[in-house]
Amino acid sequence: MTNSEIINIGQEHVMGTYARFPIALVKGKGTRVWDGDGKEYIDFVAGIATTNLGHCHPAVTEAIKKQAETLLHVSNLYHIEPQVQLAKWLTGNTFAERVFFCNSGAEANEGAIKLARKYQSDKGLAGKYKVIAAGGSFHGRTLATLTATGQDKVKVGFSPLPEGFSHVPYDDLAALEAAVGDDSAAVILEPIQGEGGIRIPSPGYMKGVRKLCDKYGALLILDEIQTGMGRTGKFLAHQWEGITPDIATLAKGLGNGVPIGALLATEEVASHFGPGSHATTFGGNPLCAAAALATVRAVEAEGIYENCIEVSRHFLKRLEEVKAKSPIVREVRGKGLLIGIELEEGYLAIDAVKILIEKGFLTVVAGERVHRLVPALNITKEEVDSLIPALEETYASMQK
Ligand SMILES: *Cc1c(COP(=O)(O)O)cnc(C)c1O
Repeated sequence: MTNSEIINIGQEHVMGTYARFPIALVKGKGTRVWDGDGKEYIDFVAGIATTNLGHCHPAVTEAIKKQAETLLHVSNLYHIEPQVQLAKWLTGNTFAERVFFCNSGAEANEGAIKLARKYQSDKGLAGKYKVIAAGGSFHGRTLATLTATGQDKVKVGFSPLPEGFSHVPYDDLAALEAAVGDDSAAVILEPIQGEGGIRIPSPGYMKGVRKLCDKYGALLILDEIQTGMGRTGKFLAHQWEGITPDIATLAKGLGNGVPIGALLATEEVASHFGPGSHATTFGGNPLCAAAALATVRAVEAEGIYENCIEVSRHFLKRLEEVKAKSPIVREVRGKGLLIGIELEEGYLAIDAVKILIEKGFLTVVAGERVHRLVPALNITKEEVDSLIPALEETYASMQK
């Protein structure tokens, strides 16, 4: 179908929860995608940090094909081969000792909040249920995770919201120290805020947060849904920080585009989820687990971390050149291939996104004024270089 045929049907039948751009993407390979009219784009969105190995990665496609011919779904009433292998890989490469599988980021965070409360309640501390999150954070769209999210706009119209959530400014240890206490079940944070505008905390912040959690017996939940899966050049972003959380959540890149989420935890914490305490029909089903297993193995085998770090260095250097030529750019920041370009007051990142679609490049926003670039982690320096003149022209054409 052509772009307009697809768009017309969607506008009539799909709920309008997204302000969609006027193209329909019908095919992808590596860092390229094509729309219904055959136009090619270089993809600096990757499904918002999700197809981290590029579109239709051969190892993942092969694993899906093979699993589809073998066994698609059984219940978690039974042991599942690709699921246990994936859990073994994840515990072998992270702080975690046990894994619970689910279907999305919001569901992983929802599970993390439940697990933290259950842990405290099992210890006889039923009043220790409060969850502290950060301003500007994003944790998902279920009732509990949108309440944890530190942005008012996602909450409008959904009251009453679950009780026991509060917010402190991000990257502010003194504010956290003032808020945390004997009633705190957990602190939930992103190691780098994604939707909140690619905000990277100061050195030492994460260590300080860990210390405060230990002091008050609050669990540290790290939301690695956007920062994980190699996005910053290590499997999980907190692995740069010399600390470990009690719980971490994964989703987005875990299945390279197949929907799967995970809740990682230490044995001490995970042991509080016993039979009947938490469940989900599709969690870690054979198909999704096989895709995710092929994904994590490819991340490890294909030099993804090295490429991410090397291309990041080149990309940030080239973006500093763009900044030097573009008065509307205030700041360039990023770690690995999680990159944000903050525009000056009065400029909207969405305008840059629209112009770049015309030029054959997909990019995305993170808040109103941050232009976000989150390509596949195996993107090349040449592909990055091809974006630079288009970006300079775009910012020049936006200047008032
Ligand atoms: C995308 C995202 C979520 C929500 O994930 P869904 O799969 O859309 O529910 C939660 N936290 C962070 C940091 C994210 O980037």
